[in-house]
Amino acid sequence: MSFDADVVVVGAGAAGIAAARALLARGRTVRVLEAGGRLGGRAFTDTESLGAPFDAGASWIHVAERNPLTPIAQGMGFTLRDERRRVRDILLVRGRPATAGERAAHDAAAEAWEAAAEARDAAGGEDIPLAQAVPRGGPWDATMAYWFSTIISGVEAERFSLRDYVATGLDGGNLQVREGFGTLVARLGEGLPVTLHAPVARLRQDGAGLAAEGGWGVLRARAAIVTVSTGVLAAKGIQFEPELPDEVHAAIAGLPQGLLSKVVLRASGEGRLGLGPFSRLGRMVEGPGDHAMSWMLWPWGRDHAVGFLGGELAWQLAQEGPAAAEAFARAELARYVGAAEVARSFAPGAVVTRWAEDPLFLGAYSHARVGHYGARAALRDAAPGDGRLRFAGEACHPRYAGTVGGAWESGEHAAAAIDATLG
Ligand SMILES: Cc1cc2nc3c(=O)[nH]c(=O)nc-3n(C[C@H](O)[C@H](O)[C@H](O)COP(=O)(O)OP(=O)(O)OC[C@H]3O[C@@H](n4cnc5c(N)ncnc54)[C@H](O)[C@@H]3O)c2cc1C
Repeated sequence: MSFDADVVVVGAGAAGIAAARALLARGRTVRVLEAGGRLGGRAFTDTESLGAPFDAGASWIHVAERNPLTPIAQGMGFTLRDERRRVRDILLVRGRPATAGERAAHDAAAEAWEAAAEARDAAGGEDIPLAQAVPRGGPWDATMAYWFSTIISGVEAERFSLRDYVATGLDGGNLQVREGFGTLVARLGEGLPVTLHAPVARLRQDGAGLAAEGGWGVLRARAAIVTVSTGVLAAKGIQFEPELPDEVHAAIAGLPQGLLSKVVLRASGEGRLGLGPFSRLGRMVEGPGDHAMSWMLWPWGRDHAVGFLGGELAWQLAQEGPAAAEAFARAELARYVGAAEVARSFAPGAVVTRWAEDPLFLGAYSHARVGHYGARAALRDAAPGDGRLRFAGEACHPRYAGTVGGAWESGEHAAAAIDATLG
């Protein structure tokens, strides 16, 4: 039987690009099939909507000290900005700036929140919802839950495995990329044997190998690495033949996608609200049902403001559409500067990310459901078809899940495993 390549890689995001590069470096022949019209997946720099690069997906190189993309970015001459501490330039408490005492209480609550999660995890026992492990009822506790879980992880703490939260916690430095993190990832995919607009509808066993099929045709390979999101896998975006083993289905179901959305407004005048580049705005969450946004203003001195919203609110606004998200964002900004100033300082319209609605992603990044913290390793180690089929992507990284660096390492890991299987 003849094959088109040793390995077919499904998806040209960070994991797929890393896997393809690693396989080629090992002397394997590779074909990458990407459903969309571009490289990079959830690392995507939009250079058209705002007249300046805007990272619609990933924007920080997290845990920069040991992220494989840090030295790569440096070596390629990208401009990086170290953002070790994210201090709020404006921290709002019930409509007014926080006092020094309130800021100190805010910072102490953050430390206490993280310490409680870590201590409860270290104590062992059953996995529990993150929300049950952390302080509750203090003046800043709802704010911490909102910031650490709903926004950063894209899911409410009530539905998030404590074990997974602690295991995948991000420490260390954060770097922003002036040219765009998506630009960096896409550049790393340039020159690879990628076919765009080639959605894989079916991946089936084919003699001693696998056949990837779609409306574009058929591609036969000795092995395959699938890097699509767990949202796409759970929605059966790819049909597997034979059907995947139960434990793989269980791992996928244990790792749903959370949601982080960005709403971007452009300045209309020169005033910039009197705030400098990279200014941060945040506010106290006043209790259950109060959905706050977090803001980063004028990155790299550019004329746009990026609002972040996560979890249930983000899913709800994704359903309601971009106009609802824009209205929500303007109302949130008005809390800081008043509605008249928002109308004066920002042009009409907004750029709203659509990760939830896009069938190629169906969310932002994964979290483990309570009791499913082992699912990441299970998906990473799954090797159906005598090891000829492997999964990779952010969800498969037990330590750096939800990041580009984690996706990258996961792709390299799957490539090494497939290479060993092929002998
Ligand atoms: C709003 C947002 C903010 C984020 N912020 C950060 C951050 O600051 N730092 C960070 O490190 N990470 C961040 N992330 C997470 C990071 O972007 C992801 O963890 C990472 O990019 C995932 O890479 P991947 O290769 O696993 O998956 P993907 O990037 O999703 O790649 C999978 C590819 O498969 C393709 N595909 C889907 N279905 C098919 C099919 N049937 N056939 C063929 N191809 C298919 C998709 O189009 C996609 O290109 C963020 C994500 C979002 C959405």
